[in-house]
Amino acid sequence: MLDWLQAIHLAPFSIISILDIIIVALVLYKLMMVIRGTRAVQLIKGIVVLIVATTVSSWLQLDTINWLLRQTMTALVVALPIVFQPELRRALEKLGRGRFFDRSLLILKEEDKSRMINEVVRAVQVLSKNNLGALIVIERVTGLKEYIDTGTRIDGLVSLEFLTNLFVPKTPLHDGACIIQGDRVAAAGCFLPLSDAEQVQELGSRHRAGVGITEYSDALTIIVSEETGTISLAQEGKLHKLLDENVLKQRLTAALPLQATTSLASIWKKTGGRK
Ligand code: ATP
Ligand code: MG
Repeated sequence: MLDWLQAIHLAPFSIISILDIIIVALVLYKLMMVIRGTRAVQLIKGIVVLIVATTVSSWLQLDTINWLLRQTMTALVVALPIVFQPELRRALEKLGRGRFFDRSLLILKEEDKSRMINEVVRAVQVLSKNNLGALIVIERVTGLKEYIDTGTRIDGLVSLEFLTNLFVPKTPLHDGACIIQGDRVAAAGCFLPLSDAEQVQELGSRHRAGVGITEYSDALTIIVSEETGTISLAQEGKLHKLLDENVLKQRLTAALPLQATTSLASIWKKTGGRK
């Protein structure tokens, strides 16, 4: 066994090195997917130009230029984490999201979850028919406390009447987003970060804010346009436009699975409990 392992390790193209290459390729691919459509793309292009220029200047023995370029690279190493703090934060948050840390939806029973989704979908229909602009964020694994704190705390059970009432123009809480945790509206009038993504650059601030929060967290956002009444869903930094209520319901149900506490209970029933 040991010989066999050593043979694998010593072979010129060992299984380990193939594994190594596959992992690196996967990580690079994931990284490209994360930065696609963000301003980090320009940054990567800039860095590639700098590296090429440094190498060429070293070949041609242009010492002063080479020295300057190397100093610039050193300065960049310090400056990058500061300039790209939001992107780095988003990437690390994505990395740290695990099923173990699930919270609010964890405590929801199946019937409460489907009731919440039904009420949200019906409210969105009413808002859309009446051209009432709305921004509804549904928390998943990433906690949204810092955004909840920018608005007015409510803690009220989600219902068709409550949600439609929230977005009636000229009322105190209609401006900004409402955030749902579990089956309760945690807060309304919340301020969300605006997205810079190409897909939403032409759109107004409601749509950009709706997408923005999904870049910083795994939340779902439903956006109803005041101008056109169209319903959109933002998820993982992408905007899905012109949804009808059935599609919206399907997407919400799929994206908000029943989680640990209840699943553990059902696993217990299925295994130990049924012997
Ligand atoms: P619509 O299609 O409804 O017109 P829009 O994408 O064109 O939407 P605006 O017309 O700019 O966007 O919508 C402005 C409203 O969006 C504001 O009144 C406010 O309620 C909401 N909004 C704008 N920016 C934010 C933000 N950063 N966070 C939360 N809500 C916001
Ligand atoms: Mg507008």
